[in-house]
Amino acid sequence: MPGAYDAIIIGGGHNGLVTACYLARAKWKVLVLERRYLVGGACVTEENNFPGLTGFKVSTAAYVNSLFRPEIIRDLRLKNYGFELVERNPSSFTPFLDGRYLMMGPDASMNLREIAKFSAKDADNYPKYEKMLERVADVVEPTLMLTPPNLLKPGLGGLWKLAQLGRKFQKMGPHLAEAVEVLTGAARPILDRWFESEELKATLATDAIIGAFAAPSMPGTAYVLFHHVMGETNGKRGVWAYVRGGMGGLTQALAKAAKDLGVEIRCDAEVAKILTHDGAAVGVALKNGDEFRASKIASNLDPNLTFQKLLDPRTLPADFAEAVSRIDYASASIKINVALAEAPNFTACPGDQPGPQHHGTMHICPDQDYIERAFDDAKYGRPSADPILECTMPTSVDPTVAPPGRHLMSMFIQYFPYKLKDGNPDEVKEKFADRCFDILNEYAPNFKKSVLGRQILTPLDLERTFNLTGGNIFQGSMALNQLFLFRPVVGWANYRTPVKNLFLCGSAAHPGGGVMGTCGYNAAREMQKRW
Ligand SMILES: Cc1cc2nc3c(=O)[nH]c(=O)nc-3n(C[C@H](O)[C@H](O)[C@H](O)COP(=O)(O)OP(=O)(O)OC[C@H]3O[C@@H](n4cnc5c(N)ncnc54)[C@H](O)[C@@H]3O)c2cc1C
Repeated sequence: MPGAYDAIIIGGGHNGLVTACYLARAKWKVLVLERRYLVGGACVTEENNFPGLTGFKVSTAAYVNSLFRPEIIRDLRLKNYGFELVERNPSSFTPFLDGRYLMMGPDASMNLREIAKFSAKDADNYPKYEKMLERVADVVEPTLMLTPPNLLKPGLGGLWKLAQLGRKFQKMGPHLAEAVEVLTGAARPILDRWFESEELKATLATDAIIGAFAAPSMPGTAYVLFHHVMGETNGKRGVWAYVRGGMGGLTQALAKAAKDLGVEIRCDAEVAKILTHDGAAVGVALKNGDEFRASKIASNLDPNLTFQKLLDPRTLPADFAEAVSRIDYASASIKINVALAEAPNFTACPGDQPGPQHHGTMHICPDQDYIERAFDDAKYGRPSADPILECTMPTSVDPTVAPPGRHLMSMFIQYFPYKLKDGNPDEVKEKFADRCFDILNEYAPNFKKSVLGRQILTPLDLERTFNLTGGNIFQGSMALNQLFLFRPVVGWANYRTPVKNLFLCGSAAHPGGGVMGTCGYNAAREMQKRW
């Protein structure tokens, strides 16, 4: 049997790599075991996505960064390993079929001018709306790096943490009710109260539903609204960015940092079993039969895989196993990566050379009712007849990801349910992609003829490729009952599990999905604490 390690990390997603780096910095002997041929999980750059085409460096899954923690970039000196953020400015462009468009970004005066094209009242309200979201973000953002207390047995430390958090909310005074609505409520009534222009509301509402199996009229969707005022790029708050060379630029930098810190990384190493002895994790067995032992194990996988597939169910208390089986993985997000001969030439903002309209997210969604109707289809198990498209073209600011003169587009699309009422996703996905292309072509008539290749990833494909249960992009839904004190299940939000020496370090844990690195960072801190 190979030598024993201080820690084994199951899965080399960005969070697993962060955990590995921090443990290795503390002089632990660490082994990372990754199922795929490369590390990075849903945060990778791959070059073999379009058969017959070379030179396209595709961010196969995640495509934009905002929330990756600056502390981690500094601590692990990721810039020395080639990690570079390329700002997106403007950050969003929404064209409409009547020839108008709405462009928004970090430039406050541009936002006012742009919104005023649709409503002077909304332009006036927008800075106040952003202030409201900032107030909520100011309370929530510091909790990202916290270990949530155990609500069931908080102890003195836990009660102190809860009291401090309660005090922060209390200090919001009359704004508290608004904050609670943002944290628990639906996006649509909030947007309807603040604004009158459907063009603005549709642009903001698409952010609220990203990755969720929900429409903006459903509770829990407002939570994502304040993400756009959080995070930073190169010290600038609320600015989102591409990673130079694709999202794998981050995970490859993490892997290099890990190796320099002495971490051993093995790819094509699928863990089939977590080995236990007397209720404690003692090692893992790979699919090929190899076994490795360690004092502590951290799983970068979701709870379904960790507890229901890799562990013998008899090692878990019945109430915990029951709570794990209730976790919601519903998903209806589909990703289409497209190689393009030229940039989309929007009728509303003409130009086939990369311009500001291509820098950020190009939203194809005319109004909130359109989203509701798209969700109605999904609710009944059908792909949306008229889906919502969020398109990005990183080549507009980072030419390194495509051959000269060519472009790369990420299309993040909703809704295409994991479970279809009729038909097999593999059989209907091409037709669905054709419908998405037809829609984009209505706004940019050169689009379809400029397509050189496409890769379609349905929720089922995301599950097959990245081992994400149900194709859920966040390793479990980000509804309030699955966040903070309740992530992954109540009583176990502290990265520990009922199996001694087994921890969770991926986005299934607090604070959840997104390329933040915080789950891995917090898990490493907890693993180093005495039991
Ligand atoms: C299509 C898509 C688009 C997204 N877009 C964005 C975006 O633009 N911005 C953003 O911030 N977030 C985005 N996200 C979410 C974000 O990518 C994820 O939340 C994040 O990458 C999760 O990282 P992680 O390390 O926690 O887990 P993962 O990335 O899921 O990593 C888990 C790792 O474990 C490996 N693994 C699985 N099973 C085994 C096994 N049995 N043995 C060994 N290894 C195993 C997997 O191969 C994987 O490498 C997107 C996700 C998807 C799927």
